Amino acid sequence: MTMIIDSHSHLPSPGRAGHNFSEARPQIDAWRKLGINGAIFTTWQGVMAASADDIEQGNRAALDIYAKFSDFVLPGVSVHPKYPELSLQWIHEFHRQNLLWAGEWCPADQLEFDAPEYEPFFALCEELGMVVQLHNSKGIIPVAKRHPQLTIVAAHVNHAFIGEEGQLPNLWLDISGLYGGLCWQALEKAKDAFGTKRLFYGTDFDGYDPEIFIYRVKTHFTPEEQQDIFHRNLLAFLRNNNINNAFGLNY
Ligand SMILES: [Zn+2]
Repeated sequence: MTMIIDSHSHLPSPGRAGHNFSEARPQIDAWRKLGINGAIFTTWQGVMAASADDIEQGNRAALDIYAKFSDFVLPGVSVHPKYPELSLQWIHEFHRQNLLWAGEWCPADQLEFDAPEYEPFFALCEELGMVVQLHNSKGIIPVAKRHPQLTIVAAHVNHAFIGEEGQLPNLWLDISGLYGGLCWQALEKAKDAFGTKRLFYGTDFDGYDPEIFIYRVKTHFTPEEQQDIFHRNLLAFLRNNNINNAFGLNY
C-alpha cells in the first residue's frame, strides 16, 4: 500500500454548518477509507475568516482537532489582514506549540498577498522558520522574492504564472483543487514548472473528492514519481523545516 498524505484540506469547526461534514471524525474516517494516511488542514472557519471571532474560534478549533487526532492531522494557523494583532498572536501561539505550518491563507478583504497589510505575517513566519501555504494568486511571486528565506507552498496549479513560480527556489506546489483534479494538462504543466520533487499530493477535501486526485497522480506519473508526490516529497519537506510532529509518523 502506498502511503498518501493530503497536504491541503479543511475541517469543520464545531457548530458551523455549510460543509459536507459537521465534525472532524467522520471526515477523517472518510480519508482513511480511501487509504489516505494523514492530512494538513486549516478549519473552514479559519481559511474563510471574515471576523476576529472567526480567527479566534477557527484557530482554537484547529488546535482542539489536533489534540484529538494528532495521529492523523497537522494544523495550520489562520490569519486575517484586518486583525493583525490577533493574527500575529496566533502565529506565535502555533509556533510556541511547535506547530510550524501556516495556512492555507487566501487573499482576504480584496487584498493581494503583496499588500502591506500582509507583510508583518510573512516577516514573522520567515523569522520563526514557519512554512506558509498560500492560495495560488499572483501576489505569491513578489512575496517569495521579497522573503527568500520564507518557505512557501503554493496551493493549486495556476496556469497563468506557474512557469515563473517554478523558477523560485523557495516555492513548492500542492496539486489540490480544481486544477489538480480536473483541468486539462494541469499536472503536465505542474511537472514542467516544478519537476516531480517539489510537488505534493493535496485535495482541498471536503471541497473536492480525494479519490480523483489519487487517480490523476497515478495516471500522470511513474510509480517512483507517485511515491514522491503521495508522501516522500512532503515528509522530506517537513523534516527539512523542523516539523516532526505530524500524522503519528516517525520520518
Ligand atoms: Zn483550500
